[in-house]
Amino acid sequence: MPVVMIERQDETAIVWIDNPPVNALSQAVRAGIIDKVNEALADGEVKAILLACKGRTFIAGADITEFGKPPLSPGLHEVLGVLENATKPVIAVLHGTAFGGGLETAMACHYRIADAGAKVGQPEVKLGLIPGAGGTQRLPRLAGAKVALDMIVSGNPIGAKAAVDAGIIDKLSGGDLMADALEFARELANQDKPLPKVRDGQVDMNGLPKTFFADYRAGIARKTRGYFAPERNIQAVEAAVDLPFDKGMKRERELFIECMENRQSAALQHVFFAERLAGKVPGIPREMETRPLDKIGMIGAGTMGGGISMNFLNAGIPVTILEMNDEALDKGFALIRRNYEISAKKGRISDADVETRMGLLSRTTDYADLADADLIIEAVFENMEVKKEVFRKLDAVAKPGAILATNTSYLNVDEIAAETGRPEDVLGLHFFSPANVMRLLEIVRAEKTAPEVLLTCIKMAKMIGKVGVVAGVCHGFIGNRMLEGYGREAGLLVLEGATPAEVDKALFDFGMPMGPLAMGDMAGLDIGHMLRSAFPADRFHPHAYNVGNRLVEMDRKGQKTGAGWYKYEEGSRAPIPDPAVDKIILEEAEKAGIARRSDITAEEIVQRCLYPLINEGALILEEGISLRPGDIDIVYIYGYGFPPYRGGPMHYADRVGLENIRDALLKFSERGGTRWWKPAPLLERLANEGKGFASLAG
Ligand code: NAD
Repeated sequence: MPVVMIERQDETAIVWIDNPPVNALSQAVRAGIIDKVNEALADGEVKAILLACKGRTFIAGADITEFGKPPLSPGLHEVLGVLENATKPVIAVLHGTAFGGGLETAMACHYRIADAGAKVGQPEVKLGLIPGAGGTQRLPRLAGAKVALDMIVSGNPIGAKAAVDAGIIDKLSGGDLMADALEFARELANQDKPLPKVRDGQVDMNGLPKTFFADYRAGIARKTRGYFAPERNIQAVEAAVDLPFDKGMKRERELFIECMENRQSAALQHVFFAERLAGKVPGIPREMETRPLDKIGMIGAGTMGGGISMNFLNAGIPVTILEMNDEALDKGFALIRRNYEISAKKGRISDADVETRMGLLSRTTDYADLADADLIIEAVFENMEVKKEVFRKLDAVAKPGAILATNTSYLNVDEIAAETGRPEDVLGLHFFSPANVMRLLEIVRAEKTAPEVLLTCIKMAKMIGKVGVVAGVCHGFIGNRMLEGYGREAGLLVLEGATPAEVDKALFDFGMPMGPLAMGDMAGLDIGHMLRSAFPADRFHPHAYNVGNRLVEMDRKGQKTGAGWYKYEEGSRAPIPDPAVDKIILEEAEKAGIARRSDITAEEIVQRCLYPLINEGALILEEGISLRPGDIDIVYIYGYGFPPYRGGPMHYADRVGLENIRDALLKFSERGGTRWWKPAPLLERLANEGKGFASLAG
């Protein structure tokens, strides 16, 4: 089947692209456009050309299957040259998403018409790149520096109406896009004005201060910290302002290559593909029938119960929350309402949305009211006996086929499932706090979880805007289990001589949103303390938590008590180093007989904290707790703020080289003990074979 066809409608030729699902700019599409446009140009009866797409969208971007492969001829530049230099008017007809190369193609046409639902965007920055086919030079010429810079540096699309206002689109269709496009073509066919080429325009800097680019840089500095591509995108737009078109194009090429050659683009592309793969489970076809999810039951209206409920309410799905008493329900409901009201105040939702969402929420203290729920999620205290009792009660009232889920962070989901007469309907749904904000959802497959129950929850994750990653049953699943070594080493490093601020700064500079100790203060130091006390002491390092425990005993539980590893001024979350903590650290180091060192570098801190995390990731892969290394990367990026531009811990490990990581683990084990530093057999094997985790992908 050809992917590009030509159709004649009187004096207009329609060049149709039909390359499902998204009309990506594959080699065949590129060659086809050149071919068919040339055919239309050669046809004496054709007066105007429409470039339009079949299916649900205009060209949505590059063909991702060509990524990382040698370029195939013809390149996109050649296609755009044919369109722009055409001697008859060429009109791009936009519907759906004209993204990346799609928008670049449209901008090389002489005119653009779109339906009201169309969107245009240059999302390349999200893959660590810049638009590489004139997007950075043409978009500013069409839309002015401000709109173009925003679109190119954020990567976020804008709607058709805004695109008309910005000058990117010439005409909005009244409803019948093709009829309007043909009419537009007829008008243009009979005009004898020269055909407009975007390249000939100037970038509108009207009303923008001299400091426009500097201000813009300052404005996004925090959000783009550590990223390579945003600055290159800015420079490319600056080139559009400062240079004539052809020189600007040359500059765009140079900057594009800089981005391509930088590690970050490979890392971000890895994340892109890993996210698409997450939630695919071998042996469970996507077409398998799933269960309905029309009514949700929630047990517990605490921190997690409230946040989890909001996800479903936002998606228009009714939720009934069960609590122990009315007081707890009142408190939980008030918090949900307050969260919505804050969103409304910020303009993210309307006042009417607040009421609609609250209207979908009901309350009960009676299990019988959950009898018609399709999915019931438990988020009560992290206590096995309490959870078992809840599941026994659910088993007694839930309708046949209802899915029963636990939001436990660490407890054994098999043991919870065994409390019911229907373990095939039970699984873990591990949301992250704040549950209405954090995108990650670990979907914990228990031993007996039925495939369609798992698939229903994988699809549910998508429905509520989460990224679902499947995990197996173990202590802490994927994310929290890997975090153990990270926290342990942070605790040891301060005993050995690094200050809390040095430990946190090293990991902040690595790209984490905050260091492990500041994170502890935010989460509450009592949580870890409580968790550890639920297990035999010999499970943990004998000294690593001594300071943390002391802090909790002194009621320094973190931000919520105004002090933890740091002190906090009233109403502020900014950590302030506290000499009182330094004193405790010295005392604990002496008690534990740990010699203080003054040679701890940022590099050592990063390695000591991250390599055990990666090593645990290797064990998790080996045990089949995680299906693939990319899933672990997604967990860390969406659940723990691991910098996406490093691709997640497993991708990062491959970059460092597994043999280097293995050697470092062995080196640290000389001082820290083999129990904590033993390389995982999988890591060892891959290191010996000179391979990376990526070699396991599939
Ligand atoms: P929380 O203390 O804020 O809320 C627990 C709620 O459950 C309370 O409102 C309590 O009244 C209610 N509850 C207790 N026993 C009940 C029962 N038998 N029936 C009905 N309601 C009952 O706790 P949380 O932070 O929301 O944690 C809940 C669960 O989520 C725990 O398993 C926890 O490990 C897990 N979790 C917490 C976080 C987090 O960061 N807070 C993150 C992921 C998972």
